[in-house]
Amino acid sequence: MSNVSVQLTAPNGRKYTQPIGLFINNEFVPSKSGDKFASINPSDEKEITSVYAAGEEDVDLAAKAARKALKADSWKLLPPTERGNLMLKFADLVEQHKETLATIETWDNGKPYQVSLNDDLGEVVNTFRYYAGWADKVHGQTISTTHEKFAYTLRQPVGVVGQIIPWNFPLAMAAWKLGPALACGNTVVLKPAEQTPLSILYMASLFKEAGFPPGVVNILNGLGRVAGTALVTHPGIDKVAFTGSTTTGKEIMKMAAGTMKNITLETGGKSPLVVFSDADLEQAAKWAHIGIMYNQGQVCTATSRILVHDSVYDKFVALFKEAVKSTSKVGNPFEDDTFQGPQVTKAQYDRVLSYIESGKSEGATLASGGVPYKNVGDGKGFFIEPTIFTNVKDNMRIYREEVFGPFVVISSFVNVDEAVTRANDTTYGLGAAIFTKDIERAHRVASEIEAGMVWINSSNDSDFRVPFGGVKQSGIGRELGEAGLEAYSQTKAVHVNIGAKL
Ligand code: NAD
Repeated sequence: MSNVSVQLTAPNGRKYTQPIGLFINNEFVPSKSGDKFASINPSDEKEITSVYAAGEEDVDLAAKAARKALKADSWKLLPPTERGNLMLKFADLVEQHKETLATIETWDNGKPYQVSLNDDLGEVVNTFRYYAGWADKVHGQTISTTHEKFAYTLRQPVGVVGQIIPWNFPLAMAAWKLGPALACGNTVVLKPAEQTPLSILYMASLFKEAGFPPGVVNILNGLGRVAGTALVTHPGIDKVAFTGSTTTGKEIMKMAAGTMKNITLETGGKSPLVVFSDADLEQAAKWAHIGIMYNQGQVCTATSRILVHDSVYDKFVALFKEAVKSTSKVGNPFEDDTFQGPQVTKAQYDRVLSYIESGKSEGATLASGGVPYKNVGDGKGFFIEPTIFTNVKDNMRIYREEVFGPFVVISSFVNVDEAVTRANDTTYGLGAAIFTKDIERAHRVASEIEAGMVWINSSNDSDFRVPFGGVKQSGIGRELGEAGLEAYSQTKAVHVNIGAKL
C-alpha cells in the first residue's frame, strides 16, 4: 500500500491517508508506466501530491475488470434491493468521512470548505440515497397486442459504462453519474478531471468498505487526451457519460462513433437570467448573485448573461452590485466567512483574465472587479475579484462565449419578445432564469426559452430529484431525477407466442 498512498496534513490541520494509485478491482495500484502527475493547491500554487496517471494499458485492465464484474454472480445476480442497500451503506460511509472528503475537495479545488462540506458532500449523500431507492423500482412493462401474443419489456443495464467528469464539483459530479449507473446494475470505469484527482480516490476506498464486489467501480485518474481518449475508444466500454466543455463533448462524439457507443453529454452554457419590469428586484439581485458567483462562477448552468428591462435596469444594476459587494467575500477557502475561493487552476485564472481584457477592448463598461485579488496569504493563488460588465452588446465575445468564472455581463431589453429572442440567441441551451410576478408571462416565457432547465424567480437551485441537462450545444440526455435512469438502462422487448400457429 505504501507506494500507492501518502500521509498528508491539510491546511486546516486534518491528517489523513491519501491514496494516489489507480483504483481497479477494489485495489489501489500504480500505473503500468509509472507515470504520475501533480495536483496543485489553487490557493497557494503549491503541489499537494502527485497521483498515478492511467495509460491505455491501465484503461484496458479496468475495462476488463468492469466486464468481469458485470457478469459475475456477485453483481449480476445480486437482487436489486441488495444493490440499493450497498448504495445506502456507501452513503452512510461518505457521511461518516465527510469532513475529510470536504477538506480534500477544498484543498484540491479551492471551493470554500463550508460549501464542500454542506453542499457538495450533501449532494453526494442525497444522490446516492435517492438512486439507492430506485434500484428495485426500474421496471419494464407488459404490452397488450393480440390474443395470441404476450409482450413485455425488460429494463436492463447498458453494461460497462465509462464516465468522464470535470473539476468544478468533483465528488458531486461523480455521484450524479455513479448513482444512477449503479442503481441500474451497470459497472463503471470513471475518469476524474486531472485538475482535481484527490477526493475521489479517498471516496473510492469507501466502495470497497461498503461491500461493492471488485471491479464494479473502477477509478482511473489520467489526462483527458490519454486516459479519456482510451476510455472513449475502448471496444469493451458500452457507453460514455461526459460532463465538461462543449469542445471536448464534440470530440467525444466523434471518437465514440468508431464503436457506436451510447453517449450522454452535459456540456457548456451561457445561460440567461431575465428580469422583467414587475420583478421583485431585491430578490432578483440576490438570486442573480448566487446564479453567477457561486462556486467561483465555475458552474455549467451559471446565469452568466443578465438581461434587464430598461425601465428597471439602473435600479437592478445598483442592487446587484450591492449584493455582490456585501456577499462575495473573496478569501482563504478554509475560513468560514469566505464566499469565493480561487479559480481552480492557472489556466482558468488566465482564461477569466483574458475575457476581462476582451470586454474592455470591445468597449463594454467594467462596472466592478476585473482584477486579480492578492490579499490572501502571501499573495499567491488564483483569486479574481467578482467582475461585472455593463453596457454589453450582443456581438461581444464576453456576451457570447462561456467564461466559467466570477464574471457576468448585463444588458437591457424593451419588450418580452426581444427578451426571449435575445435569451435564445446562443448556441447553448442549458439553464435560464426568469424574474416576474406575472404568472402568465412566467410560464409562457419558460415554455419559449430554449433550455433544458428554467428557474422562475430563482437561479441554479437545482435538485437531485429533478432532471438536469441541456438542449442545443449544451448536451444530450439528462442526469438526476427519474430521467437520469434512462441513460443507464436499456429496454429489451420480449415477444411471447401464446397461441399463433403457422
Ligand atoms: P474539458 O472538457 O477538457 O475536461 C473535462 C473532462 O474531460 C476532464 O476529465 C478531462 O480530462 C476530459 N477530457 C479532456 N479531453 C478529453 C478527450 N479528448 N477525450 C476524453 N476525455 C477528455 O474541460 P476543461 O479543459 O477542464 O475546461 C475548459 C472549459 O470547459 C471551462 O472553461 C468551461 O468552459 C468548460 N467546463 C464545463 C464544465 C461543465 O460542468 N459543463 C465543467 C468543466 C469545464
